[in-house]
Amino acid sequence: MSRAFVDGPVYTRKVRLVDPKTVLAIHAHPDDVEFQCAGTLALLARSGHRIVIATMSPGDCGSATLPADEIAAVRRTEAAAAAKLIGAEYHCLEFRDLAIFEDLTSRRRVTEFLRSISPDLIFAPPAEDYLCDHEITHRLVRDACFAAPVPNYRTHHWEPSPPMAHIPHLYLVDALEGLGRDGKRHGVDLYVDVTDVFAVKREMLACHASQRDWLLKHHGIDEYLNGQEEASHKRGEEIGVRHAEGFRIYRGHAYPHDDLLMALLPGHVMYKS
Ligand SMILES: [Zn+2]
Repeated sequence: MSRAFVDGPVYTRKVRLVDPKTVLAIHAHPDDVEFQCAGTLALLARSGHRIVIATMSPGDCGSATLPADEIAAVRRTEAAAAAKLIGAEYHCLEFRDLAIFEDLTSRRRVTEFLRSISPDLIFAPPAEDYLCDHEITHRLVRDACFAAPVPNYRTHHWEPSPPMAHIPHLYLVDALEGLGRDGKRHGVDLYVDVTDVFAVKREMLACHASQRDWLLKHHGIDEYLNGQEEASHKRGEEIGVRHAEGFRIYRGHAYPHDDLLMALLPGHVMYKS
C-alpha cells in the first residue's frame, strides 16, 4: 500500500475556502466511519472543509485476548491515526460497547458534544443496522441534532457550549454490508462516487490493525479490507462507477431538506435514475 497518501498534499486541507463547512461523522465504534463514509470525508477534506470523526465508544469489546481498557487504548490510537490521514480530528465520547442506551444522560452528553463541534453537516448511523449500538447511536444523534439549537435544553456540562444556530444537515450512512436486518438491500437515497479516493479509504481502514489482524487470524483471509472493498464496489455498481458510498438524507420535520452534500461535492454526488 502506498504511503504517498499519508504525506501527500492531496488529502490534507490545503485549499482555502471562502465558506468552509464543519463536517462531523459520528458512529458507534472505531472503524464504522471508515467502512461507511471515509471516501466521502476524504473528498470533503480535499475540498478544504473541516472534518471531525467521532465514535461513541472506544471499541472496548473488540478483542478476544486483551482486557477492555487495553483494547480501548489501542483502538483510540488506531482511530486517531485513520483520521489523521485526511487531516481530521478524532474524538471518543467514551460510552462503552453494548452499553449505549437512549436515556436523558446520554442525550445530554451527545447534545453537548454536537454543540462543542457545531457541525454544518453530520453523518450518522442508519435507523436500522445489525447492531444495537448503531441503532441507539442513530437515535441519540438524530435527537441531539434537534436539541442542540434549543436554548433552554441544558446539558449540565461543567462548561457548557453555546446552543447551535440551527439543526445541522443530517445524512444517514449505509448499513453494514449494505444490508438490513432482513438480509435485503438497505435503501439509500443518494450515492457519492469515491472511486478516486478509494485508496485512502482503504488505508484509513487498514489503520485499525487490531481488528484486521483478529479477522485475518480467525478467517484466514483479509476479510476486513476485502469486505470494505466489496461493499463499496456493490454500491458503485448501482450507479455505474467503481466505488461508491450510499446515504439517506434525514428529512424529519424542521431538519434541513436540501442536499448540502451535492453542493459541496459537485460531480461526485449522484441519484439513481
Ligand atoms: Zn460498529
